[in-house]
Amino acid sequence: MITEQKIALDPATFAESATHPDSAVVLEDHEGGLDPWTAAVWLAARNEKVRITLPAAPAAVSEEMADKALDTLAALAGPRVAPPGPASRFDDLPASVAKLEPGDPGYRGRSSTYMRGGRPALILRPRTPGEVADALAFARRHPELTLGLRSGGHGISGRSTNNGGLIIDVGAMNSIEMLGHGHGHVRVGPGATWKQVGAFLDQYDLALGSGDYGGVGVGGLATAGGIGFLSREQGLTIDRLRAVELVLADGSLVRASAEENQDLFWAVRGAGANFGVATAFEFEAEEVTEVGWAQLALVTQDLAESLRQYGEAAREAPRDTTVFWLTGQPRQGQSVIQMYGMVDSGDPDTIIERLTPFATTALLAQQQVVVARYADVMAQAADVGAEGHHGRGEPIARSGFLPELTEEFARDAVQLLRSGQTFFFQLRHMGGAITDTPSEATAFAHRTPEFSVTAIGMDRQGLDAAWDLFMAKHFDGLYLSFETDRRPERLLDAFPPETLSRLRELKRRYDPAELFRDNFAISLEAS
Ligand SMILES: Cc1cc2nc3c(=O)[nH]c(=O)nc-3n(C[C@H](O)[C@H](O)[C@H](O)COP(=O)(O)OP(=O)(O)OC[C@H]3O[C@@H](n4cnc5c(N)ncnc54)[C@H](O)[C@@H]3O)c2cc1C
Repeated sequence: MITEQKIALDPATFAESATHPDSAVVLEDHEGGLDPWTAAVWLAARNEKVRITLPAAPAAVSEEMADKALDTLAALAGPRVAPPGPASRFDDLPASVAKLEPGDPGYRGRSSTYMRGGRPALILRPRTPGEVADALAFARRHPELTLGLRSGGHGISGRSTNNGGLIIDVGAMNSIEMLGHGHGHVRVGPGATWKQVGAFLDQYDLALGSGDYGGVGVGGLATAGGIGFLSREQGLTIDRLRAVELVLADGSLVRASAEENQDLFWAVRGAGANFGVATAFEFEAEEVTEVGWAQLALVTQDLAESLRQYGEAAREAPRDTTVFWLTGQPRQGQSVIQMYGMVDSGDPDTIIERLTPFATTALLAQQQVVVARYADVMAQAADVGAEGHHGRGEPIARSGFLPELTEEFARDAVQLLRSGQTFFFQLRHMGGAITDTPSEATAFAHRTPEFSVTAIGMDRQGLDAAWDLFMAKHFDGLYLSFETDRRPERLLDAFPPETLSRLRELKRRYDPAELFRDNFAISLEAS
């Protein structure tokens, strides 16, 4: 649980400044280290620069505060005396599906997501594919309501909450079961988190690569790609997908795999959110037991050189090793780099050998390297309690696939960081098994870049301008899951022309009314 704490500042320290602050806000995480994602999310929730404030006068009671108070009351009083929600503003709600509207107990816990604040008019919470079909029938009757899909609530590009629209939330469809046929075949509901999948598979000495954060949901990640610590060894998460079940825009339930509905199976693996609500995934997991898990903090005054050396270390690393690189704005000419990565080996000597080239790219200031179960690494993500996610505002993120980490890129990355427009600049090492699948085999077509690059900022125009100026020329494509820019040309960055034209053809067939449009919506006509 992260808390914000206000501390008093010593006025003497700030005597020089006419507008000296009296207090500052510090972030504390009581369960251990403050992980970079959590800090980034805290910052992203603030649309303006973080302000140092004096104690404020009591604010007027907002609707949101009233909802929160109702939730607290309902939790204290228990279900029998929970205050009833207000009458629904809709008279054609599907009777089969649980719903939440503003004012209903529990609404607040499902209205925001991890990264985004929202206040949808209605949240429908189906538990079966039949209920999903009923929820979609309601969505078709209400084209005036912007539709969002939600599974684990960690969308960045995916608008899984909105203001005044409809959310179909399949978070409750979170079962995980081992299938009888073939070792490692597992069936997973979209609402499960990767932390839960990790813990389940761990019992069988198996793992399925997903990403770097166990709190992320299966539904959003497994329909877009899945670039994580095991991708260089296992491929993307979508490469381990053997079948998927979807409720399409017309309410029909279909199964797609290499044997049936092959065109949909192709489309779901990279552009899934455009084609239906995924209600079950079947994956093939692989044997993974102990891994080396490393968190390194390095300091450098020559960031471009350190970045270049990281590129070299990454290029030389075998498939069992994946190290991500993260930094923020340099301070007083110095940059702190965080690296976090995994070596798929339980042997300490191998782990040290693999990590040494990364640890020597700058001055190693802190390090924590442990031998752990893969599931334990995923389990570091905080549990989401009954209060739900607390995202506020809109995340501002840009993404690019980097074919090669050149000296020019490293120099321009430093320029971007000096511009002050990003506080979170990350490189994810790709390659390895990601390249084993041909580009045309899945809607995720960008198979050959060395890195996926992400920047998160607080000022949309400022980040776009700096990104377009310093970074865009280095990239070939983007990973849609980390991109929030909605300019039309981003669609072509996500999907190369041949991929996009095939996706358009399929969109015309499966979703001609463009019901699914909350995440890199594929327009029927080329713009
Ligand atoms: C902290 C954090 C860490 C991350 N790390 C990684 C990482 O390491 N690797 C990586 O690849 N990605 C990563 N991501 C990106 C993440 O994979 C996407 O944001 C993903 O969409 C989240 O899935 P979700 O189910 O939790 O999200 P939700 O917010 O529930 O959904 C996001 C979007 O996914 C689509 N969607 C959701 N459920 C379904 C469904 N059942 N059927 C069809 N479409 C659906 C919708 O378009 C929806 O708007 C990270 C995101 C966060 C916030």
